[in-house]
Amino acid sequence: MNPMPIAGSELRPRVLIVEDEDAQAEVLRYNFEREGFDVLLAGDGDDGLFAVEEHQPDLVILDWMLPGMSGLAVCRRLRGREATRSLPIIILTARSEETDRIHGFESGADDYVVKPFSPSELVARVRAVLRRSRPALIEEVLSCGDITMDLSTHRVTRGGRSVHLGPTEFRLLRLFLEKPQRVFSREQLLDRVWGRDIHVELRTVDVHIRRLRKALGEHGDEDVIRTVRGAGYALDGMKV
Ligand code: CA
Repeated sequence: MNPMPIAGSELRPRVLIVEDEDAQAEVLRYNFEREGFDVLLAGDGDDGLFAVEEHQPDLVILDWMLPGMSGLAVCRRLRGREATRSLPIIILTARSEETDRIHGFESGADDYVVKPFSPSELVARVRAVLRRSRPALIEEVLSCGDITMDLSTHRVTRGGRSVHLGPTEFRLLRLFLEKPQRVFSREQLLDRVWGRDIHVELRTVDVHIRRLRKALGEHGDEDVIRTVRGAGYALDGMKV
């Protein structure tokens, strides 16, 4: 049994691996993809920071020794930014001295894995960190206000009544439920719901948002999806 609710086209936890050694990066990519993760690779710190902004991974694995900016410097940079202050980060390092360990934690990393390690060990550590920091990714039921989504049965209810959603609307709502109040740009929604490699026009997002609104408001309930002019969409937290 896979402990994460991952099935087909559903949202999968997205992990960014910043590692300059191609062979190592590919081994990790293979293992994480096999375990149901969506994997992004970056070869240095600059690319890594760019990928974080562009693709909003759920967790970052940072190699300590990188060309240019070190993994530690990347970690500090991410911790210094409002948007990534609490982004889960795991640092990989060949150094195991106690001082390095302390520096690793001072940098704000959530965990620290010393090379050599087995890919399955790293996958387990990633899951443990996600379980602490992003329980929504591994929980079976998401909810906000009177809306509930059961990931194992794919059932969505509002105020106890079933809501029927198409697969795209389901994924949109799942993303919103994972981060209520957060404003997602249409580009971010495209990226997370349709995927990076698929070409879809931005206005397609509006079409599906409209369908999602309609389905959630079927029984005359208030509209909970907020349109933020020039920015995107957000699910408003509801008073219960
Ligand atoms: Ca390296």
